[in-house]
Amino acid sequence: MTIRIEPAQRLKTLPEQFFAALVAKANARAATGRDVINLGQGNPDLPTPQAVVERLKRAADNPLYHKYPPFRGFRFLKEAVAKRYKEDYNVDLDPDTEVAVLFGGKTGLIEISQCLLNPGDVCLVPDPGYPDYWSGVALAEARMAFMPLLESNGFLPDYEAIPAAELERAKLMFLNYPNNPTSAVATRSFYEETVRFAEKNGVVVASDFAYGAIGFDGKRPVSFLETPGAKDVGVEFYTLSKSYNMAGWRVGFALGNKTIVEMLNLIQDHYYCSLFGGIQEAATEALAGPQDSVAALVRTYENRRNALYEGLADIGWQALRPAGSFFCWLPVPEGFTSMSFADKLLEEADIVVAPGNGFGEHGEGYVRLGLLAPEERLREVAERIGRLKLFV
Ligand code: PLP
Repeated sequence: MTIRIEPAQRLKTLPEQFFAALVAKANARAATGRDVINLGQGNPDLPTPQAVVERLKRAADNPLYHKYPPFRGFRFLKEAVAKRYKEDYNVDLDPDTEVAVLFGGKTGLIEISQCLLNPGDVCLVPDPGYPDYWSGVALAEARMAFMPLLESNGFLPDYEAIPAAELERAKLMFLNYPNNPTSAVATRSFYEETVRFAEKNGVVVASDFAYGAIGFDGKRPVSFLETPGAKDVGVEFYTLSKSYNMAGWRVGFALGNKTIVEMLNLIQDHYYCSLFGGIQEAATEALAGPQDSVAALVRTYENRRNALYEGLADIGWQALRPAGSFFCWLPVPEGFTSMSFADKLLEEADIVVAPGNGFGEHGEGYVRLGLLAPEERLREVAERIGRLKLFV
């Protein structure tokens, strides 16, 4: 006899997966045999550096890795990420107490809400922003207060504008620079203001640095942890997914505040036993080996950005050039919403973009394009859109 299986309330509160519908639409169009150019997602299109792949192949033979790994990850991996931070940002991290190993940044971004928020607490979330923050807050049965990211403020939140009643209940805040979806980068002075804000209001900062390696025009994005006092108020989430084209490998870290790192480790002691040892060893190769592949990747994205924006300028679509990340945040033409414009591009130009309203209310009026296709395809994107004669 079939029994009635009801999901717990918690599952019912999870936000709708907005982009699942988009993926289905794009796939349906491609299945009709049309030459669809998909710039709607954030999945890096280039391969992992060969040295990392080779290291995994060798490591797979090591019987040590066939056993359970240490619960909180191998020390050599934690040392490697600490050294990378020292070299890249001059930030000191204790591998034993200030580094948690994660199954990709995503896992930690969900877990931190569960570690810090009680039902009814408030979490400050950027709008537009990466939807996974919402999921963690929902699972913690907490509430979100959105911080609008406006072009007029460089897509940085305005702390002065947060209502006092929300601030009083706020325990956690997500920041993400280089930003998905707006492609903005943070300044040092913004992070200094953030530390002061966090201290004054007792709010923990979760800095999502997923695109940390990707900054253009010769500028390396600033890490939140470079800011004096940052470690006292928060952690940074770092991932190999984008910097090393390792999205499928699921390697990420939470770095910084000892108390929070311990909480994340504790919750993970219950959820998981760390990543496969061979992956940890290969990840160490990525972090500790030569970094030329990262520089080459940034050049590739920058060349792609330039190719796309030259094409867009030719057809009259004016927009700010991305300063970092691999996203472009483009205002839709008069008379369209994010959604109606994304639909038009799919139906009349076979181009998939992400409608900005999927990232929050303040994403309305924009679409997001990923620089995740070769330059010639990006030029073709501009040409196809130009033929629609929308920007004259
Ligand atoms: N944060 C942002 C802003 C992202 O765009 C992504 C992935 O797209 C992630 C975090 C998660 O990355 P991962 O779980 O692959 O480390």
